[in-house]
Amino acid sequence: MPQKQISVADLERVQEKAIDEYFWHNFFNEDVRLCSLCGNSGVIDTRNTAVSGGGINAGRLNYCICPNGRAMREEGADMEAYMRIHKDVAAFLNQNGVI
Ligand SMILES: [Zn+2]
Repeated sequence: MPQKQISVADLERVQEKAIDEYFWHNFFNEDVRLCSLCGNSGVIDTRNTAVSGGGINAGRLNYCICPNGRAMREEGADMEAYMRIHKDVAAFLNQNGVI
């Protein structure tokens, strides 16, 4: 019996499905329907928090593993710009009593 060829696209779909299942199982907060890692912003900023016991900073600005983060990664979104806008929007909502 001839073996079926597995394409790169097939492997990418399997990988994407595995990442999806890992995310939904481990990081999606059902109660508030938000990503527990990034709050649905798609970006995780560990620049000031990922520091070793020896004081070595390993942090960086990362795309999240959630669907928003993966979409931003695929689009090559500018995370620095996004974080500036996100902070401005959060400040505006806070000043106006929304959050
Ligand atoms: Zn996320």
